[in-house]
Amino acid sequence: MKKPALSSLNGKKFDVVVIGAGINGCAAAQQLAAQGFSTLIIDKGDFAEGATSKSSRLLHCGLRHLTPGKSLWEFVTNPVYLATALINTKASMVARKDISETMPELTHLTKFCFPIYEEDPFSPILVDAAFSLLKILGPKDPPLEYKRYKADEMAEVPFSSYLRDPDKIKGMAVFNEFLFDWPERIAIDTLLDATRMGATARNYTTFKTLEEKPDNTWDVFLQNALNPEDQITVNARLVLNVAGAWSDQVAEDLNLDASQKVLKLKGAHIVLQLPPEFSDWGMLAMNRAKEPLYCVPNRGLHLVGLNRVPYEQDASGVVAEEDEVDWLLGEINYLMPKLNVTRADVKYTMAGLQPITFDPKEPHGSRAIKIHDLEKEGLKNVLTLTGGPIMTHRQVGKDLANAVGKRLSPSQPPQKLSSEVSETTKKLNDTRGQNRSIQYSKEILQKIAIEEQPANLADVLFRRTGIAWNKGQGREIVEEIAEILAGPLNWDEGRTKNEIQNYLTHLDNEFSNHTD
Ligand SMILES: Cc1cc2nc3c(=O)[nH]c(=O)nc-3n(C[C@H](O)[C@H](O)[C@H](O)COP(=O)(O)OP(=O)(O)OC[C@H]3O[C@@H](n4cnc5c(N)ncnc54)[C@H](O)[C@@H]3O)c2cc1C
Repeated sequence: MKKPALSSLNGKKFDVVVIGAGINGCAAAQQLAAQGFSTLIIDKGDFAEGATSKSSRLLHCGLRHLTPGKSLWEFVTNPVYLATALINTKASMVARKDISETMPELTHLTKFCFPIYEEDPFSPILVDAAFSLLKILGPKDPPLEYKRYKADEMAEVPFSSYLRDPDKIKGMAVFNEFLFDWPERIAIDTLLDATRMGATARNYTTFKTLEEKPDNTWDVFLQNALNPEDQITVNARLVLNVAGAWSDQVAEDLNLDASQKVLKLKGAHIVLQLPPEFSDWGMLAMNRAKEPLYCVPNRGLHLVGLNRVPYEQDASGVVAEEDEVDWLLGEINYLMPKLNVTRADVKYTMAGLQPITFDPKEPHGSRAIKIHDLEKEGLKNVLTLTGGPIMTHRQVGKDLANAVGKRLSPSQPPQKLSSEVSETTKKLNDTRGQNRSIQYSKEILQKIAIEEQPANLADVLFRRTGIAWNKGQGREIVEEIAEILAGPLNWDEGRTKNEIQNYLTHLDNEFSNHTD
């Protein structure tokens, strides 16, 4: 997946141009290449740098979809809502099996618990029923190993002795949940497979606009994000807008008076060091707004989230704000008062924008995953995706490629795709140390520098190696890593120093622990 010079693409014809290389764009590119569509996929930043790198990492079993917003009546009174929930639940269970079995290097199993309080909208019997439904809807393997402890039996669950109001707990559900260990690498591996099958991928390449040609194809104007004077045009028979939270912005860039399709739903996390007995245990509980509060183990720390707030501003550079950090600290302390966590326990924070399907009737959008055909808005053969989470990206990739297949026939023969991780990921996986932390080797870093288009240290430490998700976010080894990358990336001494400083500044700006 070496980076093609932008000029080498000028004037080239593709069946499909995919705008946005998050997990869904990458999955679409892989499926399109496998079906024989000549494909160009571009991203204005690094691959998988958007929402895909800011998630809670849950390859969750679908329980979330069975918890309505405020009350169970939402399911009874709104059949569409119920149908969407059942479709999403089934899709989650299918994806859970598929991804955990084909990519064991990038997923792992953990125990999750769910305390049931008397004021929660779900009684223990309803929780039993929800897990029975999961079993009916999904494949039986890998098993959920669901067990419900009565209030007086739950001492073996590490969180239980920290929970508030023990006399109000009616039971504790315990089940097996899979977690993604840095989904960005899944996106990169998916893209590597797409390029193996002939797709062209280029990061730091911004979509600017489209112009319709007399033969009903599109001229697509692209700009080098690292050198804005560098601009080219490629031609496409169809354009897929998979730009996540930016997808309405892409329509605006076309001067299109299009209806709103995406709701940018902001979610923030605080990342905490919790007592050692919690390690590799996760928790799902209801917060005081009657929404899920997750406590997700990750490399010896826990991600605690989520607030969910519609976001109106520009989608770039989203960070966890002071009030969000305080709110999350307040919720985790309310749930587990004995923890008494403070700002000093926050190792770092992060925030992202979920590209939810806009629905004027739902303040938090619809949970449906939707492919919008923009023909009615004057753009024939332009499709936009909204609402795709990470866990169902493979199905979304197939759905997008099938939607393309209904409109065009591929110009090349089909090929067989691979659902497995790349050789580089296998090697990275072999370096794992305590708490699944990733180490580096000179050989792996040099291969990544040459083959995977990194432009800076954040590209390598976050998306390519996942070292930035280790406890120290790679601060302690960034200089050594920069020295190794300097050769293949042609950095002289001054540039190497700047790149190190840029990485540390990036951590301070986007992942601040808010203690200063
Ligand atoms: C806080 C939070 C927690 C979440 N937790 C989970 C979870 O636990 N499990 C789960 O499955 N999902 C989770 N999600 C949802 C999931 O992260 C997203 O739905 C998913 O990553 C969306 O992927 P995408 O490819 O559609 O969008 P993105 O990953 O956002 O990718 C869109 C890409 O388009 C690019 N782009 C934008 N404009 C342009 C342009 N003009 N030219 C070129 N490129 C452009 C962007 O740079 C970006 O890389 C969470 C999301 C958030 C925010």
